[in-house]
Amino acid sequence: MSEQVPPVGPPDLAPQPEQASAAGGSAPAAGSGRAQVVTAAAGDAVSPSSASSDHASVDRASTASPAAADTADVIVVGAGPAGSAVGYYLASAGLDVLMLEKTSFPREKVCGDGLTPRAVKALTAMGVPIAEKDGWLRNKGLRIIGGGGRIELDWPDLSSYPGYGMVRQRTDFDQILARHAEKAGARLIERANVISPIVDDRTGRISGVTTKDGRQFRGRLVVAADGNSSRLSIAMGLHKRDDRPLGVAVRTYYTSPRHDDDYLEAWLDLWDGRSLLPGYGWIFGMGDGTSNVGLGLLNTSTGFGEIDYRDLLRRWLAAMPAEWGFTEENRTQPVRGAALPMGFNRTPHYTGGLLLAGDAGGMVNPFNGEGIAYALEAGEIAARVITQALARPAAAGRERVLKTYPQQLKDAYGGYYTLGRIFVDLIGKPSIMQFCTRHGVKRPAVMRFTMKLLGNLTETRGGDAVDRLLNAVSKMTPAA
Ligand SMILES: Cc1cc2nc3c(=O)[nH]c(=O)nc-3n(C[C@H](O)[C@H](O)[C@H](O)COP(=O)(O)OP(=O)(O)OC[C@H]3O[C@@H](n4cnc5c(N)ncnc54)[C@H](O)[C@@H]3O)c2cc1C
Repeated sequence: MSEQVPPVGPPDLAPQPEQASAAGGSAPAAGSGRAQVVTAAAGDAVSPSSASSDHASVDRASTASPAAADTADVIVVGAGPAGSAVGYYLASAGLDVLMLEKTSFPREKVCGDGLTPRAVKALTAMGVPIAEKDGWLRNKGLRIIGGGGRIELDWPDLSSYPGYGMVRQRTDFDQILARHAEKAGARLIERANVISPIVDDRTGRISGVTTKDGRQFRGRLVVAADGNSSRLSIAMGLHKRDDRPLGVAVRTYYTSPRHDDDYLEAWLDLWDGRSLLPGYGWIFGMGDGTSNVGLGLLNTSTGFGEIDYRDLLRRWLAAMPAEWGFTEENRTQPVRGAALPMGFNRTPHYTGGLLLAGDAGGMVNPFNGEGIAYALEAGEIAARVITQALARPAAAGRERVLKTYPQQLKDAYGGYYTLGRIFVDLIGKPSIMQFCTRHGVKRPAVMRFTMKLLGNLTETRGGDAVDRLLNAVSKMTPAA
């Protein structure tokens, strides 16, 4: 159980009880949730069953003296894309932000390493230098293979998004983002493994966190950017929702002549016996002599949870031309897997002083499994809300602003993610998946539409008929 520690630090760290209740501040106390040990940290392997359930193992908070606590305006737990984006934007706004990261950089993170134009735009907005000479490999679009067809689609030419994507190994990528946040003024403490929240027992609000080695950190607000497992959210009583989609993906690297491909490549033909599975395999050339190769599946398939992902990967790659080199001798890293929490599978995104961003809030796009762009964007939204909230003199005013965060996320993605849930339910039926693959891939107009839909790449205003249609449908679809 989490220890309940009275707040220390600047007088306005925590609202008075009446202010909290007037503002509806009713976070589940840490003592009511259970701090739990979970398996899918950066780079950790998961099994499908562990990916879809929260494991319970109660932690005890440290008994270190509260006087030893380090304080900041905002504590950000996790320095992946979401945490670094929050850190960067808050520091840029002049706030004192402390990022706590359990690993130390550089470190591995299980990922496809693919960045769509949406992610490129988010990186550009943060001022991350992305010149090709600095190791950012650009790509022109997507090659889709399936149902006997093969089509190359360039990224759409839009004013809202750049016409190129990129790849970058997460070992570099996450370190670059974290250092970028530091340059903006964020403080980063590595090897700080947060094990429990500190909850004000008068208000039920989170007022800081405790790390495994007993250090305490206090803030006016805390951001959970600790990824899919989000031990912090669980400890605050925020569990994964079973009514939202979830994916599992595995990946590895091979030395391959295909390493300098100009297109990200997606294969839709993943078979389990006679059933076409909802998901895709990918081959992303990394430009360094290797290809990132992997596959991801959705939990809407009947066999989800029983599929042997490594074996499926092996069988899929066995059908590839030998000259591509996807063989055991050329494999440079272990096959690793992790979960993809989709379509807001952990809510609410704000409660009692805690905001959730990125995978912690289940923000992966259900249509294509992309999570980096959404982690960066949510980080920006969270930071914007926090900056405005902390500028308010009274606790009730701050709380009013903070409560707009879930709504702002819904406005940005809610309708689209609802459509995504319908999509994953549909393609979970092998006959529908087979029909779409067989009849879609050979039709360029259908595939251009599909690319915009799946990549969430439409003009934000105006655009062509497809943009207008997709935007209208997303807006009309209720945010869940
Ligand atoms: C196999 C696979 C392939 C993928 N491919 C792609 C892709 O090609 N493109 C794409 O856009 N998305 C992809 N994704 C999704 C993407 O990886 C995530 O959506 C993205 O990393 C989310 O960023 P985040 O910052 O929210 O979380 P994370 O990247 O998971 O970062 C969380 C951070 O918090 C730290 N942390 C965790 N617990 C604690 C703790 N207790 N204390 C302190 N720190 C903690 C972790 O060490 C980590 O650094 C893929 C996912 C998988 C599994």
